[in-house]
Amino acid sequence: MGNRQSQTDVILIGAGIMSATLGVLLKELAPDWNITVFEKLSKAGEESSNEWNNAGTGHAALCELNYTTEKPDGSIDISKAISVNEQFQVSLQFWSYLVRNNLIEKPEDFIMPLPHMSMVQGEENIAFLKKRFEALSNNPLFEGMEFSEDPKILEQWMPLIMEDRDHNDKIAATKIDHGTDVNFGALTRMLFEHLQKDDTVTVNYNHLVEDVKRTEDGLWEVKVRDTKGNILAYHTAKFVFLGGGGGSLHLLQKSGIPEGKRIGGFPVSGLFMVCNNPDVVEQHHAKVYGKAKVGAPPMSVPHLDTRFIDNKKSLLFGPFAGFSPKFLKTGSMFDLITSVKPDNIVTMLAAGAKNFPLTKYLIQQVMLSKEQRMEELREFIPNAKSEDWDLLVAGQRVQVIKDTETGGKGTLQFGTELVTAEDGSIAALLGASPGASTAVQVMLNLLERCFPEQMKEWEPKIKEMVPSYGMSLMENPDLLQEVKEEANKTLHLDQNDNSTSDILQRA
Ligand SMILES: Cc1cc2nc3c(=O)[nH]c(=O)nc-3n(C[C@H](O)[C@H](O)[C@H](O)COP(=O)(O)OP(=O)(O)OC[C@H]3O[C@@H](n4cnc5c(N)ncnc54)[C@H](O)[C@@H]3O)c2cc1C
Repeated sequence: MGNRQSQTDVILIGAGIMSATLGVLLKELAPDWNITVFEKLSKAGEESSNEWNNAGTGHAALCELNYTTEKPDGSIDISKAISVNEQFQVSLQFWSYLVRNNLIEKPEDFIMPLPHMSMVQGEENIAFLKKRFEALSNNPLFEGMEFSEDPKILEQWMPLIMEDRDHNDKIAATKIDHGTDVNFGALTRMLFEHLQKDDTVTVNYNHLVEDVKRTEDGLWEVKVRDTKGNILAYHTAKFVFLGGGGGSLHLLQKSGIPEGKRIGGFPVSGLFMVCNNPDVVEQHHAKVYGKAKVGAPPMSVPHLDTRFIDNKKSLLFGPFAGFSPKFLKTGSMFDLITSVKPDNIVTMLAAGAKNFPLTKYLIQQVMLSKEQRMEELREFIPNAKSEDWDLLVAGQRVQVIKDTETGGKGTLQFGTELVTAEDGSIAALLGASPGASTAVQVMLNLLERCFPEQMKEWEPKIKEMVPSYGMSLMENPDLLQEVKEEANKTLHLDQNDNSTSDILQRA
């Protein structure tokens, strides 16, 4: 490639929650390292991490039914729920550390306490929910979970959902008070503000990374276009993180590393309905997750969510899935087609053949009229009025497609995939679930894989930031209690001390 313009220790591509988290972790662990960030948009946290582009659920498996599956013998597999919860505890510990040490301020600007509930209808679903409750409620990670089929109790928990409901409807719910609503957009911006105070960090907005290549001396060279002046420049680094969200797959393919071969991406878009009537908004105070429809992908489980954005309470319902060939909301209509390469074409074709029902489901979702979407909302709020709700286009999720031993060729993955080069000099994050909630754990995994030689030296500092690092909290209930109390105090999550109006007033 052309002339080099700068050399740095670390390049982070993309200014979303993942790069923000990795940047802050690295600054705590290796303060002398120089970090350069390139972001194609004009601000941080504008794509999937933006508050209006995701659901803001602090995913801890407290209410998401897709993290607990029913085994053929009828028992409930809670292993995924435990893993998601443990990962969220890691995020809470890290965020607490940042607030305690004044690296970021005002936790109520990015995290709010909010009950998490699961709500189901019909005998069969109620039996499942009850079994799920029994399997989880004795586990220290899910302490405080309640189950009820009693309409009087359900009316207290979720008045808007119970109002005007036919009393013959069989309905049940679980509730856990220590759930959260997280404004990942605000958090991303706060983390970048903190990073930008450091002389060793340079953040370049309006800079699109067009290519990533290995140089002969073993460094990585990125070709960057300053989109304001249309100027090209080349920058090198010892380590590059491809944190472009939906844009990461193309960048990974450009890097040419063997670990990035035979991987494809399938974009699924998200739409929410947002309530414009403050009287309706006031009547709900929870995240209430339902059960996914047959054939629906796990990320389109319907939920009715109280959100706290810009010091204001809002109410969102969704997501409705949809199909667009773009990999980013601000992406190109050619993203899907240009991601098909000779090494992944068989994988992609196999996925296409296997996932015909999903494609059909997504096309049906795109075709839904507002009234049809309102009908789905009325399963949650029986008397919902069309004029109170507007449609909101959320972010794009690019689901990873790869060949797996269990699923065979072209298997669609619904999780997060960390792809790293064998020598640890480059890493990419693909996929979007559980997503932003697990950013800290995923970035710690990245550090272990890419910086094994530094880990021994870094471990004491990591333990200072995340006291449970390397341990299972479920198996260490005393430590769990300790870190929970600390997070509740520092992040102002204790429901007993904080009414929502108090918190909003303070924010
Ligand atoms: C509808 C929906 C609902 C969701 N709900 C939740 C939820 O409730 N809870 C949760 O935890 N997670 C949720 N997620 C997932 C979560 O939003 C993502 O996992 C997370 O935001 C991804 O962060 P990121 O930093 O990887 O990507 P992003 O936030 O998308 O950031 C990537 C950045 O890279 C930039 N970029 C891309 N390519 C280039 C390039 N070539 N050069 C320069 N810059 C580039 C982009 O402009 C962007 O700013 C949801 C996602 C969606 C779409």
